[in-house]
Formats: sequence, structure tokens, C-alpha cells
Amino acid sequence: MKPDAVSRGLIGAVISRFEQKGFKIVAMKMVKMSKNVAEGFYSPHKGKPFFAELVSFMTSGPIVAAVLEGNSAVEVVRRMIGATKSPEAAAGTIRGDYSLAITANIIHASDSEESFEREYGVISKLF
Ligand code: ATP
Ligand code: MG
Repeated sequence: MKPDAVSRGLIGAVISRFEQKGFKIVAMKMVKMSKNVAEGFYSPHKGKPFFAELVSFMTSGPIVAAVLEGNSAVEVVRRMIGATKSPEAAAGTIRGDYSLAITANIIHASDSEESFEREYGVISKLF
């Protein structure tokens, strides 16, 4: 959960959806990303026009990092969070229901097993 989810008091609402769906929360912690960690976490986006804004946003306040376990977790969670651009995200998805912004879009989720392995390597240092 990104800083906007924490500051807006949406941690419970978001986690609740995953619990209700049947995912097991195997790790969870509120942490603050340093600039270094945020840049490493989003390194595939380095050089894109929104990179600096993204890093600045991700370090603007605490986040809640969590690891979910369950059937087809990557695919199902991505479907539950909705499209990257919240205004385009379908109603019933997390971004569709809780955000109208593009940078502040409530939540991150790994988009492949390979991304998970890489991202977990970065974030688990904060656990
Ligand atoms: P995330 O990686 O955060 O789970 P995502 O996989 O849906 O989101 P990405 O394409 O990986 O989307 O982009 C990473 C993040 O960068 C987005 O969640 C959003 O916060 C920001 N972002 C992406 N595209 C734009 C854009 N065109 N303008 C501003 N910010 C953007
Ligand atoms: Mg992504």
C-alpha cells in the first residue's frame, strides 16, 4: 500500500479485500522507503518522465509492504487492483474505487513472478 493509502486511512479496507478473497498474508510491515530503496524498487522505470515524481511520492510517507500467498496470486491481485491509471480503473477494483490520481494510485503489486522476486529482494531488507 502506497503512502496515499496510509495517509487516507485505507490500509484496513485494502487488506480486507485480499483477506476476503482468500489470500494468506504471510508478511506485513509499515516502513518508510528511502530515496535509494524507492529508486531500486522502481528501477525498471528509470529514465521515464514520471520517475522522479514516482520516487518522490513513494518516499513522502510510510507504506505498508505485504506478501500475499494464494492461487494465481500475481494474476488475481493485479486484477483486483485495477488499471494503473485510476480514472480508467474499473469500479470494483481497488484503484477504481479509491483513487482518481495516476501517481497516487493506492497500491503496488508485482506484475510477474520475476518482478516479485526482484521487488521482494529490495523490500525484504526493510522487514
Ligand atoms: P505499480 O508498479 O506501482 O504496481 P503498475 O504496475 O500498475 O503500478 P507501472 O507501469 O509499473 O504501473 O507504473 C508504476 C507507477 O508509476 C504507477 O503505479 C504510477 O504510480 C506511476 N505511473 C505510471 N505511469 C505514469 C504516468 N504516465 N504518469 C505518472 N505516473 C505514472
Ligand atoms: Mg508496475
